[in-house]
Amino acid sequence: MSSVLIVEDEEHLADGLRFNLEAEGYEAHVAGDGETALDLLTKQPARYDAVVLDVMLPGIDGFAVATELRKAGQFVPVLMLTAMGRPEDVLRGFAAGADDYLPKPFELAILLARLSSLLRRKHWLLSLQTGGSKAGGLFEKNARNGFPDEELFLFDGKTIDFSALQIRVADRVVQLTLMEANLLRHLVKHNERNVSRKSLLEEVWDLHEDTDTRAIDNFIVRLRRYIETEPSRPRHLITVRGVGYRFVAEPKD
Ligand code: CA
Repeated sequence: MSSVLIVEDEEHLADGLRFNLEAEGYEAHVAGDGETALDLLTKQPARYDAVVLDVMLPGIDGFAVATELRKAGQFVPVLMLTAMGRPEDVLRGFAAGADDYLPKPFELAILLARLSSLLRRKHWLLSLQTGGSKAGGLFEKNARNGFPDEELFLFDGKTIDFSALQIRVADRVVQLTLMEANLLRHLVKHNERNVSRKSLLEEVWDLHEDTDTRAIDNFIVRLRRYIETEPSRPRHLITVRGVGYRFVAEPKD
């Protein structure tokens, strides 16, 4: 049974959410403010499978909660509840480390769908299937070098461990959030092929609405910091003007 922490100060909304999540077979808990949520999530990091995090909270807000969680090395999937019609909230949420968002007020069915999609992606990522794409060849080449499966991807002296959500460069280990890992995996699978921002939003986040595609850019900036020697002059994670991005495992230059 998946366990979800609801961080919401409006009691009727929190109770309604808990009731409905329980009816859907989740174990649901409520934290009424950000400090309580941080306390619960950092003291028992494996206790919750996902967090529904409201932005507007008494004391520290949802952005600060997400930022603090990631800083503390807590990478639980976070679905953030943002104010309606505020794309800047969405961008701030992603920058703070949220994995997905939902504008308030929301339809319960949509929240349930997003939550289950987030959890499905978590399970999917942790139990990787074999793909037949071009990058499959890269994974196979990796396999010949002694890495038998798709959980590890080696390139340019770096190792991406998708099951542990880590990038290892020399003796440095970077912990990835769920969606950072999903995004990276999607780009790696399309090695040397252009991927549009819109298709990333659809295939990585399951977002079909008119989302501000700049939301992706925050993630790209972070991924570059992890994998590029000079993040301002990327060689692996290339911007394709007017299109989106392209991952290149082995740059020719
Ligand atoms: Ca609130």
